[in-house]
Amino acid sequence: MRAAAALDDRVASGTSKVSIFLYVINTTMRAIEFLSESAAKELADKLPTLKKTDYNAIDELMQRVSQHHGIDGKKLHDLFVAKYKDTPDTWVKKIKQRNEDTISEGVETPEDQQKIKDFIQWSLKTLNMQQPHPKFEFSRDTEQAQQDHRTGMHTSDGNILVYIENRNLVDIFRTIFHELVHHRQDQLNMIGPDDSYPGSPVEAMADMMAGKYIKIYGKQHPEIFQ
Ligand SMILES: [Zn+2]
Repeated sequence: MRAAAALDDRVASGTSKVSIFLYVINTTMRAIEFLSESAAKELADKLPTLKKTDYNAIDELMQRVSQHHGIDGKKLHDLFVAKYKDTPDTWVKKIKQRNEDTISEGVETPEDQQKIKDFIQWSLKTLNMQQPHPKFEFSRDTEQAQQDHRTGMHTSDGNILVYIENRNLVDIFRTIFHELVHHRQDQLNMIGPDDSYPGSPVEAMADMMAGKYIKIYGKQHPEIFQ
């Protein structure tokens, strides 16, 4: 009996040592993953702010970020590719191109274009939008808008289509913000497959937030009501 009990003790204490060891390993791994994920994320946040995206500029930024996180440049590169599916230089070129294309066909006066650009920038910041930001397309196809019974849409590839014909700036802004809320909901995995019917919670949230933030923006920019 005594021998068996001792064996039990040994097994028990052995097991707990192993499990403590595993626990420490696990926790450390998770901490490392967490830190590395934030290293890739920090790089993704900073890359689009580079004025030039040549080899030297990207390399210098990567050195700073990797030092900051105590990993080497190669590791940062690999973490980035694992998370964003592109090398940092390809990725940032795509993002920059996308941001330049943000305003494409459709909006005619340069003043309105600028007002819309400013509003989009403000909205992205307000919603804490993560990359990739959506690409906007503005359409004057009223027939299609009527057929679709809608003033805008968020497509599955992450683009936003906004109908602008015969609509004033504030209405256009409301649609832009509404669709941006969907983009953010998508980033936060808040939209399930059947969640987008009229009046659904995700729709109600987009309407409510658009209404609220247009008021806030309008107070700061009364010219949009002219
Ligand atoms: Zn919607």
